[in-house]
Amino acid sequence: MEIAYFNGSFLSRDQIHISPDDRGFLFADGVYEVARWYEGFIYDMEGHMARLMRSLKEVRIEWDDADSFPAVAMELIVRNNLNDKPSLIYLQVTRGAAKRSHAFPSPPIPPTVYAFARGFNPEKEMISSGINVILHEDTRWSRCDIKSVSLLPNILSFQEARDSGSFECIFVRDGMITECAHSNVFFVLDGILNTHPLSEKVLAGITRKNILRLARESGITISETALPASSLGDISEAFVTNTSFEIAPVISIDGKIVGKGKPGPVTRLLREKFDAEILALKG
Ligand code: PLP
Repeated sequence: MEIAYFNGSFLSRDQIHISPDDRGFLFADGVYEVARWYEGFIYDMEGHMARLMRSLKEVRIEWDDADSFPAVAMELIVRNNLNDKPSLIYLQVTRGAAKRSHAFPSPPIPPTVYAFARGFNPEKEMISSGINVILHEDTRWSRCDIKSVSLLPNILSFQEARDSGSFECIFVRDGMITECAHSNVFFVLDGILNTHPLSEKVLAGITRKNILRLARESGITISETALPASSLGDISEAFVTNTSFEIAPVISIDGKIVGKGKPGPVTRLLREKFDAEILALKG
């Protein structure tokens, strides 16, 4: 029986009922977080907390107990017997349930808070052999820095990638590469590691932040600048990052082979550094 968290209580999932008037359901008026449990610790929970607080602030949702997220996450791991399993913890906070109106409920109502933890199988083969991706116009809104549950453009673009046998899609806005449907993207160009700078055009990925730190520590030159899609022919490596698959090498973009068509040296080095960090944190 799966135990989830709902508005302050830990309940069996089938005991949870969310109002049809919930603004998450009616307007996608909410934000979320996804953190990873590594059989002993949650990776960079401080980073996830900081991003959650920022998302809540930007959309003006007040969740008085936001500080409880780390404890809720741990409790979900324990209550679902996930201690020894790679798992993801999902948290969603919406503006609550109220009669449908674009305006915020007045007087304010409590948010709806839902969280669950589930074990998953890390896609090791894909991570080691690399993935195919497509390019897609960035059809999202102009506040991609907020981790909003409103993900329709991401979902539609992602499904196009999947329908064409690809794993992810790289978004292009005004000719420049931003990020992917559910990951950040990095390139190696002339030996320099490149990724889009933090701005309203990309999500501040927790993995992105940590990969940049590991790259810096490894003496890799970094450039946080937007790459024109027209420069893709010149790159020697590409990889995408997110909390669940960490680092996935990209071996083709729109059917064109990247570099030698296999994970390149910078990608492999960063993968090794990331794995070593996880091992060290496991103690
Ligand atoms: N960009 C988008 C649009 C995402 O949805 C995600 C994760 O879901 C990321 C980037 C990567 O973020 P993180 O590394 O924190 O998982």
